[in-house]
Amino acid sequence: MIRKLCLLLLATNNVLALPQQESAPGGIAVVAVETRDVTYDDKPVWVAEEEDRLYAVIGIPLSAKPGTHRLTTAKGSIPFSVTKKEYSVQRLTIENKRKVNPLEQDLKRIRGERREMDTAFNRFTRDVATDSAFVVPVDGIMSSSFGLRRILNDQPRNPHSGMDIAAPEGAPVHTPAAGIVAAAGDYFFNGNTILIDHGHGLITMYCHLSTMDVKPGDWVDKEQLIGKVGQTGRVTGAHLHWGISLNNARVNPALFIESP
Ligand SMILES: [Zn+2]
Repeated sequence: MIRKLCLLLLATNNVLALPQQESAPGGIAVVAVETRDVTYDDKPVWVAEEEDRLYAVIGIPLSAKPGTHRLTTAKGSIPFSVTKKEYSVQRLTIENKRKVNPLEQDLKRIRGERREMDTAFNRFTRDVATDSAFVVPVDGIMSSSFGLRRILNDQPRNPHSGMDIAAPEGAPVHTPAAGIVAAAGDYFFNGNTILIDHGHGLITMYCHLSTMDVKPGDWVDKEQLIGKVGQTGRVTGAHLHWGISLNNARVNPALFIESP
């Protein structure tokens, strides 16, 4: 209850701490705007108010090309630049070969799960006060593996779209901010997974859990226990895969954590 009150205070005083800016693939651009109706790549964008000014906070996909990108508003388009960023290659060996080369019978399940996650990532909930001053969801060792171009068992796969935090099996996982559980399930690659909608296209994801304590539609407070670290799905050991998505672009979770 106290946390809910704090959230409301944050919202009414307009003191929202915005994520760090890094206008590159997998990063975030913050652009001053004069309206709340802004789209990027035909998707609505979170517009935050700070000190009585409006800022579009835009997730830039890992696949974005460097150069000039544009926001669309009723008054015209606003350019912003995306700089080049190279991510290194990471080679991993996965013991369970079926998790790298799924069987025919796994593909239907994988497609269904992808749809479920896509639906969650495409949510744009306007009536939640978006709080991006995140707390780290689990005590552990944070890796800088976001964006790495992955080669699994010598085969190229999608880049790593989140941050891995190494923690022992059973370590409690807490929400970084309040929101609504958008999806929860046992997915082929991601294992036991929870997606939380923090409003305005900001969605966070928790994978490979051993247990899940929430279900779709639940409201969760900031720092609420949602599950425990595990090694379900495609893993090399117990850890939390923490993903953050803005306007359906996976962005680097490090940008949401205050630098020490
Ligand atoms: Zn991961």
